[in-house]
Amino acid sequence: MNSPKIAAYSSSQDITHFINGRPQAASSGRSQAVYNPSTGQVARQVQLASQEDVNAAVASALAAFPAWADAPPLRRARVMFKFLELLNAHKEELAAMITAEHGKVFTDALGEVARGIDIVEFACGAPHLLKGDFTEQVSSGMDNWTLRQPLGVVAGITPFNFPFMVPMWMAPLAIATGNAFILKPSERDPSPSLLVADLFKQAGLPDGIFTVLQGDKLAVDGLLHHPDVKALSFVGSTPIAQYIYQTGAAMGKRVQALGGAKNHMVVMPDADIEQTVDALIGAAYGSAGERCMAISVAVLVGDVADQIVPKLAERARALKIKNGMELDAEMGPIVTREARERIEGYIGIGVEEGAQLLVDGRGHKVAGYEDGFFTGGTLFDHVTPSMRIYKEEIFGPVLACVRVPDFAAAVQLVNDHEYGNGVACYTSDGNVAREFARRVQVGMVGINVPIPVPMAWHGFGGWKKSLFGDMHAYGEEGVRFYTKQKSIMQRWPASVAKGAEFVMPTSK
Ligand code: NAD
Repeated sequence: MNSPKIAAYSSSQDITHFINGRPQAASSGRSQAVYNPSTGQVARQVQLASQEDVNAAVASALAAFPAWADAPPLRRARVMFKFLELLNAHKEELAAMITAEHGKVFTDALGEVARGIDIVEFACGAPHLLKGDFTEQVSSGMDNWTLRQPLGVVAGITPFNFPFMVPMWMAPLAIATGNAFILKPSERDPSPSLLVADLFKQAGLPDGIFTVLQGDKLAVDGLLHHPDVKALSFVGSTPIAQYIYQTGAAMGKRVQALGGAKNHMVVMPDADIEQTVDALIGAAYGSAGERCMAISVAVLVGDVADQIVPKLAERARALKIKNGMELDAEMGPIVTREARERIEGYIGIGVEEGAQLLVDGRGHKVAGYEDGFFTGGTLFDHVTPSMRIYKEEIFGPVLACVRVPDFAAAVQLVNDHEYGNGVACYTSDGNVAREFARRVQVGMVGINVPIPVPMAWHGFGGWKKSLFGDMHAYGEEGVRFYTKQKSIMQRWPASVAKGAEFVMPTSK
């Protein structure tokens, strides 16, 4: 299967904002190149917002908010059902757009689209998700109930590595719960955001409820400091996540900011070796390691290293690295030239630090795509916790093997790391698995599951420097994030006792 069956996405049009229900050019005159990472060529330009554009986006969202907040949740859910139907009809187009600008292989991009659609399906349950609680007779003649109401204008700032799925972690729930949502996508692969905007419009979403603001730091800072933006969801690297969290909180906003990762897979001596090797290869090199849940450290316990490492090396050397539109490709290019330089720079650092470089992906060339941003799969053995290639997020196809003597040392290693996004343990022992899941200081845990990304109704979030804020993305935590609770107590004149009450009322 060498030739693509799906048409590659290509457009040379400028990528604009989508404000008040229509595409709108940026007023700044600033723009930035968007590349096709397989060819290394500039494919189009994305326009970048000015403060004036930020103000226009927020004003249109604010004007649209009251009527949408007032719409019955069922009516909002019906728009979401229509949006779901349209997304399903445009899956392949979305996936081809992702491959064209991100570089990940088309089949993986289809998986990204499917996982984004999962959240839309969850958001279709808005009427159920927004049901409140009611206590009859909280005191004599008095009832008490709680309900959840939308916040207003909320914004999402998203990373390059999931240009469809991560915006879907945010927008469907924000909108289904009655907010007006502004998306600031990554400037590296912004095209899917405009198709999403168009499909929302076709689904009957009122103008101003889904806005796309293209841009860079200026757009983000504009949203962070705008008094009418009530909440910010961020997904990206840790330094920016921390900045967004601190600045947003200082501005009195609700913030959830998901950051970077260094995900470990602990391999116990009783693990199924073939399954473990398959899992490590897919989780380390899939999407060229540019996943926040990619496995970048294999923690090899006891004598398992000698069985696993040679097999990993053989498989890493044999990876099919191609233009992602070739349907048998296993790994595509890196998103940008700069990102490839950073990754290959880390490989040099690992060698200098004394790690054993078993497979060197540097300088990998793909025939016919010599200018593409490709690098090969890289494998290090004998990595130690003091090395930078262990401590820092590389965000590329580089797998570091660390050897530890026993289970306790493996758990300690994971718990001592500053990141805590995802982790996996491969074992055949139920008690080891149970202890691992209980003791490990990481937000998402896989037992014989390499990339434990929770399903839509469970919520996604790491611990430690992988998440700033206290609520995870999507699931019920997402519903809580995008709504505020109101508690109402009610009684009627017939049950009110006469006379002023000067003591704290208690249940009677
Ligand atoms: P990034 O932090 O460079 O960019 C993320 C967003 O922030 C983009 O929209 C970008 O325009 C904006 N931004 C960049 N610099 C900024 C600045 N100085 N001030 C304000 N805004 C700024 O991240 P990226 O390279 O696009 O994505 C990769 C990173 O995202 C990795 O660290 C990865 O681990 C992380 N990530 C985390 C998760 C998670 O769920 N925890 C999911 C996906 C990606």
